[in-house]
Amino acid sequence: MTGHLQNRNITVIGGGIAGLTVATALAQRGARVTLLERAPALTEVGAGLQISPNAGRVLEALGLGPALDAVSTRSEGVVLNDIRGRQVAMLPLAARRPGAAFRMIHRARLVELLERAARRAGVTIELGQDIAAALPEAPLLIGADGLHSVVRPVLNGPEQPFFTGQTAWRALIPDPTDDPFARVFMGPGRHLVSYRLGDGLRNIVAVLERPDWVAEGWSHRDDPENLRAAFAGFGGPVPGWLSLVDEVGIWGLFRHRVAARWQDGSRAILGDAAHPTLPFMAQGAVMAIEDAWILTACLDAIADQPAALARYQALRRPRASRVIEAANANARNYHLKGPLRLIGHAGIGALSRLAPGALLGRYDWIYDYDPLAETI
Ligand SMILES: Cc1cc2nc3c(=O)[nH]c(=O)nc-3n(C[C@H](O)[C@H](O)[C@H](O)COP(=O)(O)OP(=O)(O)OC[C@H]3O[C@@H](n4cnc5c(N)ncnc54)[C@H](O)[C@@H]3O)c2cc1C
Repeated sequence: MTGHLQNRNITVIGGGIAGLTVATALAQRGARVTLLERAPALTEVGAGLQISPNAGRVLEALGLGPALDAVSTRSEGVVLNDIRGRQVAMLPLAARRPGAAFRMIHRARLVELLERAARRAGVTIELGQDIAAALPEAPLLIGADGLHSVVRPVLNGPEQPFFTGQTAWRALIPDPTDDPFARVFMGPGRHLVSYRLGDGLRNIVAVLERPDWVAEGWSHRDDPENLRAAFAGFGGPVPGWLSLVDEVGIWGLFRHRVAARWQDGSRAILGDAAHPTLPFMAQGAVMAIEDAWILTACLDAIADQPAALARYQALRRPRASRVIEAANANARNYHLKGPLRLIGHAGIGALSRLAPGALLGRYDWIYDYDPLAETI
């Protein structure tokens, strides 16, 4: 039986993708939700996001499918290339599961859409609310407050995020083409991912291993020449794309371990607050959206709040941990050096020719997962 969310008072901290999605899902099932966001406005960095079908199913269930389609573009899959731009393997992910949408979208468009959905569902959004030392009193408090969560340490004790040894430049360039693939270019200790967004833009994420980053802080604007210099050895379309970059930001990629405790009966965490990940499976926001649905479904189906939150953690922690391991493995595979790189690329190439299903099916467990079908 469902319906246990009717008229429940719930406070959500954080208005990123996790917070907006969970607030919307809860309010659509009758909860009275207040969302507290530190920033003066709900925004996202100027960059792209890949939303695979496992999260798309949630957004569609929240009634956002058509609006999402209007501001995103569809991906047919991923093409892996070597540093010179020669194709190593093609993964036609969409053709493998007809009807399932792999979407590519500007982050700001997704946040706009979620904010509208949250307000329509009756969520009260309070901006400029920095929840620092003291957590607000609430029958249920949900921490969707990202990497530097204030709720996570209440549940798990204090812990500093650690630097992963990887940095990422992010840039947008104009792109009038209709290229439907996300394209990955792999070089020693670095790789570049690029895909088109819905609004005539192409997104570029260029990742470089750089163990000396720590002193430089979390993120800042950078000189595009630094990006071009780091990827000067790359061929194919990469030099042309990089010549168009006139503004770029750089991020140190920091992480926490997957939190041991996601809830204590009256407080819970989701998204990056619970499990920040390297972006190499493009699943960080996607996992946050899955979390939001499952947390809502548990609270709606199980009357006893501590039991509902315990079920949420039991369903989510193993899956998030497995996805994060897959992203860590991609960091190693994409950045192979020396002879290992040649062997690795030859191996992927051979596998994609001789047993395409094996390579293509490797991540079925990620993309074919349906949060709506989960047994609560
Ligand atoms: C280079 C790169 C590429 C990526 N690409 C993809 C991709 O293609 N697909 C994908 O799924 N994921 C991707 N990700 C991951 C994704 O961006 C994150 O996992 C996701 O945005 C996390 O969302 P969140 O809402 O949990 O956290 P956040 O986006 O960090 O949101 C937290 C919110 O809480 C607010 N907040 C924080 N502290 C407080 C406080 N004390 N009081 C009040 N408010 C507070 C913040 O202002 C913010 O609005 C990528 C990440 C990177 C770095």
